[in-house]
Amino acid sequence: MSTAARTRAEKPQVSIKLKHAPKPMPLSAIKAIADNASGMLVDVRESMLAPHPRKNPPVFTTAQVGDLCRIDRQRMHYLSRSESDLPQGTLRHSRSREFTLEEARIWIDRIGPYAKRPAGIRGKKIAIGNFKGGVSKTTTAMTLAQGLSLFGRRVLLVDLDPQASLSALHGILADSEVADEQTVLPLIYGDEEDLQYAIQSTYWDGVDLIPASAALFGAEFFLPFKQSKDQSFQFWNVLNKGLEPLLSDYDVVIIDTPPALSYLTINAFMAADGLIVPTPPSALDYASSTQFWNLFSDLSESMTQVAPELVKSFDFIHVLLAKVDQSQAATPIVRDWINKTYEGLVLPIEIPTTAVTQTAAAEFGTVYDISRYQGSLKTYQRAREAYDRFAEIVDQQLVALWQADQEAK
Ligand code: ADP
Ligand code: MG
Repeated sequence: MSTAARTRAEKPQVSIKLKHAPKPMPLSAIKAIADNASGMLVDVRESMLAPHPRKNPPVFTTAQVGDLCRIDRQRMHYLSRSESDLPQGTLRHSRSREFTLEEARIWIDRIGPYAKRPAGIRGKKIAIGNFKGGVSKTTTAMTLAQGLSLFGRRVLLVDLDPQASLSALHGILADSEVADEQTVLPLIYGDEEDLQYAIQSTYWDGVDLIPASAALFGAEFFLPFKQSKDQSFQFWNVLNKGLEPLLSDYDVVIIDTPPALSYLTINAFMAADGLIVPTPPSALDYASSTQFWNLFSDLSESMTQVAPELVKSFDFIHVLLAKVDQSQAATPIVRDWINKTYEGLVLPIEIPTTAVTQTAAAEFGTVYDISRYQGSLKTYQRAREAYDRFAEIVDQQLVALWQADQEAK
């Protein structure tokens, strides 16, 4: 026996009553914790989402509807009087009118200056990706959908993250309210040919959703398993095929992905016409973003090996500076690194960190969900303008892509 071992062995055994003594936890005890947490989340959510338990879209003033249609007050009033088939809104106190989202979207569709998707041209698919969590992928997917819907677009959101945050932003609790059959899983398992079965309308007019649930983890086992049994099975092409028949109904499909290079993420990227990579200008997020591009590049290489016949090209790839915190000393430095590293890919707009959605209740929503912000108007407008501008840039690209498709016809 070594000296050290002897010393240890000879030490008298004292039993101290520890205040924070470790408590053994068999695997079987995890279920109780999980049940507790799920129950609590239902309570918390119900107390946060007003009116209970569903979410409400915002309402719009006459001036806001005018802004959305890009017309001035005078023209707005003129059109209200002359075009009787335009929604008139509801008269509120002090003789002001209030429009629902649905009514506002009818105005936008009829009066707004936005080029429509040409008949016979299919909608585009955009994936939001980054293998790091917390970089605002889900927020980007949601706000982009909402922003584009205010340009009159019809949007389908696909939640591919088993954590189902995008579904939660719609007031849908994955655990208790989403059955496996309502997610992409039946398509993945080959029980369905396309995703039509999974489309849900949402509280937000113009935005439909295919929700997620924790069961999506199953795809990570099934897809490689099926490929090992059947070499001709294109495990990367399942989502793409399932979305294809839906593209005549939507201007754009936005896919939110999990923070990992999973089989579902690969499906999202391989289906996508465009890819948006939210990247906060913090040193850690910058570092992990370089890993993202390395892994993505490895993936691209192995894809060309697995499927030499595969021709994949993105219509665009954008790096979006997100959660930009001006008060951080590192921000200008890291922004500079990002601009140099991803030259030509970084969008000419950045999303500021905003307190607007940081109250607990608002975390189940976005800037667009707020009808009347209780805090400073300037704070709200700064955030809102950034999101609007981001949606506008993406919208212009969609229009350009549709036109190109039409010319190529
Ligand atoms: P991801 O999907 O990449 O994990 P999320 O969109 O869920 O990221 O965002 C992570 C957290 O950051 C959420 O709590 C979200 O509310 C918050 N967040 C996202 N964008 C902003 C922003 N611009 N300002 C402040 N907080 C934000
Ligand atoms: Mg997310």
